[in-house]
Amino acid sequence: MLDNPVEEFVIDTYKLQGLRAKLVKTLREKGIQDEGVLTAVGKVPRHSFVESAFAEQAYDDRPLPIGDGQTISQPYTVARQSELLELKPGMKVLEIGTGSGYQAAILCEMGCKVFSIERIRSLHVKSQRILTDLGYKPRLKWGDGSPGWATYDPYDRILVTAASPSVPDTLKKQLAINGILVIPVGDLKIQVMMKITRKSQEEFIQQRLNEFQFVPMIGKHGWKEEQL
Ligand code: SAH
Repeated sequence: MLDNPVEEFVIDTYKLQGLRAKLVKTLREKGIQDEGVLTAVGKVPRHSFVESAFAEQAYDDRPLPIGDGQTISQPYTVARQSELLELKPGMKVLEIGTGSGYQAAILCEMGCKVFSIERIRSLHVKSQRILTDLGYKPRLKWGDGSPGWATYDPYDRILVTAASPSVPDTLKKQLAINGILVIPVGDLKIQVMMKITRKSQEEFIQQRLNEFQFVPMIGKHGWKEEQL
């Protein structure tokens, strides 16, 4: 094995396009209604974000390994989090947990200005390359995203794609007025999706939604590595 194997570029065949159209249908049947989200899922080649051996499985509605013990979220989870964000083109969106880069691509495809942070360097580098190859231009950063990214705040939307033990105050503070934060909060096994809307400087509305399972957010406002 080479240290740095050059990944195989998998062409977007009719077969993969067909599987992708089927995935959109499945997401619709599972209750996703946001047409913008469904259109984006129909366009972004999810197979480009996984190992080439998994190209066809990329269109099953399930998470897949992306290396370093991390996963690309299940398509339903990506679609549901995106739908909860009530996205409109031109919005500034911060994502914590770039992972494969797939969710960032969905946000770009929906016309948002995307900022995304990943703590594992190899994933950061890999996602940057895939997103650039596909023509998406999010601003990516390597580091602990749990304190947010104050350089570019406020954000219209903030999306956390890793499990958090609580809602970090620093993320709430980086929301614009009428901004929405979507974050899975719980323990290491199971989390409740929380949707937090900033009504004014001091006033926030909190909604608790369904249960999900995410890999942990590790960092200043997440878990410490020795707690895992
Ligand atoms: N949105 C991703 C899903 C990634 S899984 C996708 O579309 O593929 C969650 C990711 O969050 C993992 O890659 C993990 O390394 C990362 N992560 C965990 N804690 C983090 C932190 N404090 N800051 C930034 N990224 C973090």
